[in-house]
Amino acid sequence: MKIIKFGGSSVANPDNIRKVFAIIQDKLKQQEVAVVFSAFGGVTESLLTIARLAREGDQAYRDMLQTLEEKHLDMVRQLIAVQNQSTVMTFVKVRFNELEDLFHGIFLIKENSARTLDYVVSFGERLSTFILAEAFAAKGLKTQFLDARDVIRTNDRFGQARVDFEVTNQLIKDYFLQHDGIKIITGFIASTVKGETTTLGRSGSDYTAAIFAGALGADDLEIWTDVSGVLTSDPKLVYTAFTIPQLSYNEAMELSHFGAKVIFPATMQPAMKKSIPIYIKNTFEPANPGTMINGEVTSGALIKGISSMSNISIVTVQGAALLDGTAGSRVFKALSEAKVNIVLISQASSEHSICLAIKTAEAYLAKEVVEKEFFYEIKSGEMDEVYLMHGFSTIAVVGENMKQNPGASGRMFRALGRNNINVAAIAQGSSELNISAVIPQADLQKALNALHEAFFLSENKVLHVFLVGVGLIGKALIKMIANQQMKLRDSSELDIQIHGLANSRYMAFHEDGFDLKNPYELSESDENMDLEKFIKTMEEMNFSNSVFVDCTASQTVSDAYSRILEAKVAIVTPNKKANSGSMEEYGYLRKLAKKRGVKFLYETNVAAGLPVINTLQDLMLSGDRVIRIEAVLSGSMNFIFSELEKGDPFSEVVRVAKEKGFTEPDPRDDLSGMDVARKILILGREAEQTLEFDDITIQSMVPEDCQDAASVDEFFEKLKTHDIEFSDLLKAAEAKGEKLRFMATLENGKAKVGLNSLPNEHPFSSLSGSDNMILLTTERYLDRPMIIRGPGAGADVTAAGVFADVIRIGNYTRE
Ligand code: ADP
Ligand code: ASP
Ligand code: MG
Repeated sequence: MKIIKFGGSSVANPDNIRKVFAIIQDKLKQQEVAVVFSAFGGVTESLLTIARLAREGDQAYRDMLQTLEEKHLDMVRQLIAVQNQSTVMTFVKVRFNELEDLFHGIFLIKENSARTLDYVVSFGERLSTFILAEAFAAKGLKTQFLDARDVIRTNDRFGQARVDFEVTNQLIKDYFLQHDGIKIITGFIASTVKGETTTLGRSGSDYTAAIFAGALGADDLEIWTDVSGVLTSDPKLVYTAFTIPQLSYNEAMELSHFGAKVIFPATMQPAMKKSIPIYIKNTFEPANPGTMINGEVTSGALIKGISSMSNISIVTVQGAALLDGTAGSRVFKALSEAKVNIVLISQASSEHSICLAIKTAEAYLAKEVVEKEFFYEIKSGEMDEVYLMHGFSTIAVVGENMKQNPGASGRMFRALGRNNINVAAIAQGSSELNISAVIPQADLQKALNALHEAFFLSENKVLHVFLVGVGLIGKALIKMIANQQMKLRDSSELDIQIHGLANSRYMAFHEDGFDLKNPYELSESDENMDLEKFIKTMEEMNFSNSVFVDCTASQTVSDAYSRILEAKVAIVTPNKKANSGSMEEYGYLRKLAKKRGVKFLYETNVAAGLPVINTLQDLMLSGDRVIRIEAVLSGSMNFIFSELEKGDPFSEVVRVAKEKGFTEPDPRDDLSGMDVARKILILGREAEQTLEFDDITIQSMVPEDCQDAASVDEFFEKLKTHDIEFSDLLKAAEAKGEKLRFMATLENGKAKVGLNSLPNEHPFSSLSGSDNMILLTTERYLDRPMIIRGPGAGADVTAAGVFADVIRIGNYTRE
């Protein structure tokens, strides 16, 4: 004998129901089967809403009831041929007449007790199951509709009734002996000795199926739903969740107790008692093996799954009275008598306070009954009033292997901490099967994903990028990420998604990540760019592992870095502004990044993608000391002075450089040497020198009178008058067999930027075009300095450097 149960989503519409019938027919070929059904998808919820409206005196309940009736009649029409419809149509209509009377009563007396509600919702399962039994019979199969109220006996705890197994098991066995045909059974509902209708708790149809399996000693129990088994986390919140192939009864119980709705917690008990395996299967993907739940404890992963529950309040009971040994038990007794469910308890041994996580809907009742219990202690000040805080979720990691293997809680709280999630309370079940925490509900999805990543996907890290600046570099970066996205994913290393884009005028966001294959073009139809709002949205999206990429040259953007790091978002940028500001700011950003445990990477501040900053940092970390840095750090200046050797006048060479796009729109920005000065400032700081911008001696290549030229054209005119000076400089150098190079040097704590005449054998002399070159003389690289050379500017090489930093963040955040 096999018991199969189908949930509401499996029977939500005729198409789904046809799939269900196919599954049942397939099973019937192999063995005897009994089937348990839930109400049609959404019906229980509708019945509860109608009851609420009626109680509130809202006439709208009538329309809703009408719609619900129509939905059921429609099911009949679609599932059963006209000639076989009459019995079932009558059944449905009579039930809806009863419901109409019932709701009218509620409407008049404006009262809805738990007892009444149980009766109200029982109609959902009674209707669906009767219709399905008839529809199945119409296919020529012998079916037997069983209203489970006839055989499942419970106490009168309405809404969450307890089963009397002794009576129930006997009634079920007797019923099966006395009736032929395939039993088609209502889930969820039962009755008291007095014949009052009860329910087993929301989602309780799973339990009904287990009760039948236990009573009949079934070979197995199959729960068919809309997902392929119990997944590592709720797939609606964690998109990367995957099926857990096997769980022990205890693990399944713990996961569902803490919120994995896919199976009702009590389901495991009757099955466990008789060692009946439970299979959780997907109606829409029957070939998927789903999850098997049995008595085995399998080794392997540290945890099996993560579950969560929302709408939780923290109820704090505190005061000196709690130091008395009996006070704690009085708290729990008061709560239990009021039928308040405690989700989690956390009590520090040193403190006289108990912190309870309770569903918000029950929190006020909890406060009331505890305060009543401690009425005199509160009056005398021995106990405080019960304190409530709302807006929390609980989150639990579950697995039997945690018992033997320490480290789960470390990993859990590290992942939460790293993602800036405050933990309000922690508890570890005495069974050591789960560790749970209470966190702000707003952080739930982020927390689940961070934990899921930390426990299951440390091989495949997701990075969430927010990119400001979609100019040449930004565009090149997007293209590179798009080209590598698949490869990085497939090699299961890194999944990079871009969720925010902005240029100086517009910004746009995408919760699931922009499609990078067809790059998004920001336009008027997007929101106006507002940096504050951009950062705020980034914070609100609240992803674990977020990276802010600044591809602008804007001071306003770099001024926001401290706020971004504070929010635990990493930063990658070619923008030099932040690092070339004051030494104080430079130090502060690093300290902040360290404190918040996020990276601030800026390899492309100097010499585009060439590995200069990383190399310097590695040298310093490994204990080397920088003696001298000499560097050609401006591609445009190098182009100009190496071209000058060919004999053209200086002003002409500068014009060509500008036309080729090697200079800034106003070439004076390059010729002034300021940009090079900023770069040597950063390199000096990376070499652990305390340097301010004003300490740098800068020799500008812009003649004084050209400085104030009002336009770039005027500048070029004036520059012509200086061509002779530059050609004289060149001739003087050539006479000595030397070359002119614009370079930066740092030695003995002093930085200089300017034009030098260098002997032919100097490494810089061979440098042509727009290349950069950096010579690092250190204690270890003393006789022959380390040379780093290559293209030091250009959108592609800069974007490549930014991309490498982004990937580096992925590697850092990996555990
Ligand atoms: P049914 O109507 O079949 O009883 P439910 O809606 O009660 O189905 O349960 C299935 C739902 O449970 C899934 O759609 C999923 O959103 C949710 N769920 C929560 N946690 C988990 C989990 N760990 N694994 C699978 N599903 C889960
Ligand atoms: N129909 C009931 C509910 O929605 C029982 C179930 O689906 O298991 O809670
Ligand atoms: Mg369910």
